[in-house]
Amino acid sequence: MPNRLLMLLICGCVCCPKLDAATIIHAGRLIDGQNDEARKGVTIRVENGKIVSIADGFQEPATDDTVLDLKSFTVLPGLMDMHTHLMSQHSKDSYTERFFMEESDYALRSTVYARATLMAGFTTVRELGDNGINSVSLRKAITEGWVVGPRIFTAGKSLATTGGHADPTNALKGLYRRDAGPLEGVINGADDARKAVRQRYKDGADLIKLTATGGVLSLAASGQNPQFTDEELRAVVETAKDYNMIVAVHAHGAEGMKRAVLAGVDSIEHGTYMTDEIMELMKERGTWWVPTNMAGEWVAKKAEEPGYFPEVVRPKAAAIGPAIRATFARAYKAGVKIAFGTDSGVSTHGENAHEFELMVEGGMPPMKAIQSATREAARLLRIEDRLGTIEEKKVADIIAVEGDPLVNISAMRKVVFVMKEGEIFRKP
Ligand SMILES: [Zn+2]
Repeated sequence: MPNRLLMLLICGCVCCPKLDAATIIHAGRLIDGQNDEARKGVTIRVENGKIVSIADGFQEPATDDTVLDLKSFTVLPGLMDMHTHLMSQHSKDSYTERFFMEESDYALRSTVYARATLMAGFTTVRELGDNGINSVSLRKAITEGWVVGPRIFTAGKSLATTGGHADPTNALKGLYRRDAGPLEGVINGADDARKAVRQRYKDGADLIKLTATGGVLSLAASGQNPQFTDEELRAVVETAKDYNMIVAVHAHGAEGMKRAVLAGVDSIEHGTYMTDEIMELMKERGTWWVPTNMAGEWVAKKAEEPGYFPEVVRPKAAAIGPAIRATFARAYKAGVKIAFGTDSGVSTHGENAHEFELMVEGGMPPMKAIQSATREAARLLRIEDRLGTIEEKKVADIIAVEGDPLVNISAMRKVVFVMKEGEIFRKP
């Protein structure tokens, strides 16, 4: 290239930063996460893990550039799933495996789930609830390049109240009966709440997750009762703000959900029994909703399998599962801000893109569904200045799928190419 030659002639190799060869992507169709229309025939230039230019047409590469021919595919930003659990994947044995698994077993197994997630085109995930700090270690292992997986923003251990959805000692009997406190994320009262948030900060978590109502899969009777007081919620939100952590809230029932929105949390997860009043409150306050249609579909299906769930779980799964999907259609129409999330770990890791199909079935146009997993998710994570769209100067998280997802959203399941921060993990 003349420019490079010129630079070398002027100052030689010593004083210049290393001039790396670029990776040139010839994209047949580009959905950039930002514009509502797809572009056809585009060249994306990537250098040092960043997007440096996007130009119309298939531009000629320089001699030492690498060219990736994605002319017959649709190119998109790396996808983001705002609700995963990489430490587990539900099965009939899930309730007893904790007696047979070491923490190191969980951590090692999670590397398999992390790889499956990245290969499905998800280059960023928000990890919402772990048994301890394994997801912090997994994040480090991925950042260091020890294992292959998505960029992780983790909550570490979810916060719960005694007997609540994420109390790890629920249903333990006899020899195993014990109490848990803020160290394990179980709080009662505002002081505990503050301590539990600070403990997550100390553990290295990026954000806070709490369970404001009952949940489907916990060994407890109610799937929707409120489980945090207003005072406890406010204490969590205020303390999280001090540490610049966002707060994600698991909620099925309306009362606990409303309390959480009023306390100023950042996102409602599941949101099953969201009333019109709560939708309005969320719009006023800019609260995000992460619907997890897939979790709803999965638990409803498993509830029909005799003996799959313990008897305390089955009726909750049968009732709550279908309700999430009914809420989706209403909340989308009402204009609630939606960020993509699957609750993978309930369903199978690597099948995350099925959520797009359920969102489109629920009335969301394909482009909006894609944006919920790119630009919108980046906004929820407050990383939109560097990720979420294919634009100049942004981090090169780029994927490609077979076919046109705007015509048939199932194309999102046919990922053929994955680049994270300029590094290629999957090629056609
Ligand atoms: Zn979850």
